Amino acid sequence: MLTRAVSLLTRIMLLLMCASASSLWASEPGQIADRTIEVGEGDVALTEFATGYFVDPSQQMSLAEVQLQDFIPGGSSITLGTNAKTTWSRLEVHNTASHSRRLFIHHPHAYHLQSINFYETRQNELLSQADIHLDRDESHPMMFGGSAVYAFDIAAGERKTIYIKNVTFSHQWYSLALYDEEHSKRALVGSGNYMALLVGMMLALMIYNFFLYLSARKVENVVYALYLISGTIWVGLSYGVAANFLGVYSAALLQLNSNLLSMPSFLVLFMMLIFETRRRYPREHLALSLMLTLLVADFIYSLFDVVGALKPASSLAAMMMVVTFGVSLSLWRKGEPLAKYFLLGHSMFIIFNMSAVFYYKGLSQANQINSHGVGIGILLEALMMAFILSYRIKTLEQLKAKQGELKRQANTDPMTHLFNRRYFDVTSPLLLTEAKATGAHWTLLIIDIDNFKSINDTYGHHVGDLVIIEFAAVLKQNQRPQDIACRFGGDEFVLLLNCNLDNATRIAERIRANTERLPITTQEGEKLHFTVSIGVHPVSSSADNMQEALQGADAALYESKGLGRNKVVSRLNGSAA
Ligand code: GH3
Ligand code: MG
Repeated sequence: MLTRAVSLLTRIMLLLMCASASSLWASEPGQIADRTIEVGEGDVALTEFATGYFVDPSQQMSLAEVQLQDFIPGGSSITLGTNAKTTWSRLEVHNTASHSRRLFIHHPHAYHLQSINFYETRQNELLSQADIHLDRDESHPMMFGGSAVYAFDIAAGERKTIYIKNVTFSHQWYSLALYDEEHSKRALVGSGNYMALLVGMMLALMIYNFFLYLSARKVENVVYALYLISGTIWVGLSYGVAANFLGVYSAALLQLNSNLLSMPSFLVLFMMLIFETRRRYPREHLALSLMLTLLVADFIYSLFDVVGALKPASSLAAMMMVVTFGVSLSLWRKGEPLAKYFLLGHSMFIIFNMSAVFYYKGLSQANQINSHGVGIGILLEALMMAFILSYRIKTLEQLKAKQGELKRQANTDPMTHLFNRRYFDVTSPLLLTEAKATGAHWTLLIIDIDNFKSINDTYGHHVGDLVIIEFAAVLKQNQRPQDIACRFGGDEFVLLLNCNLDNATRIAERIRANTERLPITTQEGEKLHFTVSIGVHPVSSSADNMQEALQGADAALYESKGLGRNKVVSRLNGSAA
């Protein structure tokens, strides 16, 4: 069934990839080729439109200098990696309506930038300028949550060019949108909902995991909790939730990017614990340990210099995916039962994140899946990890039950289901210790079936067995829960009674009498009776072991056999009672 699920998943993933790739070809070059954004009478809600961008390698050019540069044509989403620290975007807007319009440029990913400057120009002449330094002006009037919004008016027939200067700490990626007032409001109101849902689900998993931890107390639950926290921060970061809800921007937000290293570290640790790689899979453990060392080293580096640490971070993340995928594949092939579930969750994580990377790199156009690929991938993997945790708890419980059953078997006589001598030897010293503390009385009975050999000889071994089983039933009927009944071997039984010698002698007499009356019917329909002889001896409260009681009861038993069998003989300190 799982193989079918895997193949189905593979197909879905392939479809997703094809969808991502096809949206790459499906982009309409006509829209981009026409560099001017025409705004008419109708609604303005543009998320894909033509812009141009220019990377300033000197990071110092003025607007006048930049206006002389060649801008590279592009769309409204820009992804340029880590080297484009200062990037300019240019939008040319033409109002074809017969009246003036008020428009709003949205910069929804502004929260991760260091600074943004908007320049409103007409025929290379600067009309208006707005500067946002995210480090300094957290409550800038143009910031709405994590989004920067620049409003401008454009008269009927007018053409304006807006320049946007973006200075980043690390990666240069953003997407712009152009709205009328109505759509601008709607975009700002709706921006957090989708991600709030994802974050909410991650929080629900954290609560679930907390309860699991309360019942199982496993270190993997702690590691999973840390993974969830890192994952939630990562989701929050990727979609501006932290900026929208907590007002964390820019450099403060940048430090949180170290989650790109902590989240995979916890994932690797989780694998080590869940699969017990150290003990069971040394080669895979070595691969995971090396990976973990690199991630942790870069994470520590990130605490001091997050920008420097983020440079190798994406390569490390990619390497982590290869290593973890390879290890889970190898474990699956080795027959590790949990590996297939991990592989499934991890594949989903990789595929959805890949679809997101396609989108961030500008290789495919946005759709509902790839624009939320990171969050969906993290969530699906987190769900599968939760399943693995509970599955593992179930497996461990089964193992415990099996061990309990094995222990029970080791202590039990298979034919009669009474305890065996081994159990007696282990338990009786504990009973003595307890008796010393509580002053409880114990009395020992040794019981032997009379002339058992001749029963075997006359009726056959199977009837002998039946006699043993029937007698065990008599013992069980006459014991209370606190008493211990054992088959010592052959036709010999020991009963440890939690009472004094007098009461024990009465019980012994009852057992003898019940046995005497018990009819046994053979398979051939023959009826027979049998008897037992019983030796009774008290367990001394000062004894360190059962030796004295065993010897005393044995001597009493010997005496009862001598008296003609089918007798109870009680002895107190070596003398007949
Ligand atoms: P006594 O009255 O003196 O005890 O005589 P006895 O014939 O019972 O002698 P003893 O107790 O020494 O006999 C034990 C016999 O029980 C010997 C062995 O062949 C038989 N025996 C031991 N275990 C089993 C078993 O599991 N099933 C059967 N059918 N016989 C067993
Ligand atoms: Mg016997």
